Amino acid sequence: MGLHTNIGYADSTINGTSGCVGCELFMPGHPEHATCYARLVHEHRLAAARPGLYASSFAEVRLIPGRFAQAANWKDLRGTARPDKPWLDGLPRIIFVGDLGDFLSPAVPDEYLERELLGAIQSKNGRRHFWLLLTKQPQRLAQLSLKWGGLPGHVMAMTTVTTQATADLRLPWLLKVRAKWRGISVEPMRGPIRLAKEWLREAVPYPPPCRGFRIEPAIHQVICGGESGMLARPMHPQWARDLRDQCQEEWIHFFFKQHGNWLHESQGGPWPQHTPAHQWPDGTVSYRVSDKSRRVLDGSEWSQMPAIMEAAA
Ligand code: SF4
Repeated sequence: MGLHTNIGYADSTINGTSGCVGCELFMPGHPEHATCYARLVHEHRLAAARPGLYASSFAEVRLIPGRFAQAANWKDLRGTARPDKPWLDGLPRIIFVGDLGDFLSPAVPDEYLERELLGAIQSKNGRRHFWLLLTKQPQRLAQLSLKWGGLPGHVMAMTTVTTQATADLRLPWLLKVRAKWRGISVEPMRGPIRLAKEWLREAVPYPPPCRGFRIEPAIHQVICGGESGMLARPMHPQWARDLRDQCQEEWIHFFFKQHGNWLHESQGGPWPQHTPAHQWPDGTVSYRVSDKSRRVLDGSEWSQMPAIMEAAA
């Protein structure tokens, strides 16, 4: 449970379940799909420290009742400053649900989610915060949102995509989630991603209104970041640049989280001799670095946040 988190776009994290069904970053029996950071933390630290809550295998999903309710009771941060994350100043506490596993894994019953998660979000204290529901199962989030009569206004429905193929698969489902707010986490970014116009403007008249008219996009925020960890693979900054430019054209808030454990030659240097290097087809090079948290992309930090203050109870 994380009252405080290093994740730049959130104040806290919470996991009311442990384990995960898996995704393109973790497929049991496929060592080439094993970069999931949550699995490493789960199997190498949490399972030994708290065996009752965390199974030895990450693939075994367990319920942890009461966790979401604890998060709902955390201190109200509305109107306060965050010296380490000034872009969150004044906003409600932003709670990231599910940073150590997918809370919508099939083994988690609907009834549990309704009672534990929705119950906490809708509780008197839970309404003081803003909740990010981040999942790689947006089809299930869409079904639940229908069943629940829509997600509450202080919730952002989010899905993670890593490639164009996963974007093509998951984003149409994200748009089916009945929610006031929707966001996309592109992390770790594994290739260029083009956001189709019909995804972005589904909720507005098409063609776009003339200048001066505020477009309300179907997607409100995009988070972008490279991969970190021992098995991290490099991200070309051009992929992040292109995604950022698409977001700016479509009035979508763009948050560049980090480059990860590889840094492109255009983003830093000089490089010590013998630094592991990756050569790109365009002839440029990325280098392996220990500081995974570098946030500057082409000389600027991108920390745009939507006006979620309006959603606070
Ligand atoms: S969905 Fe998230 S937690 Fe689950 S295996 Fe994939 S990256 Fe890891």
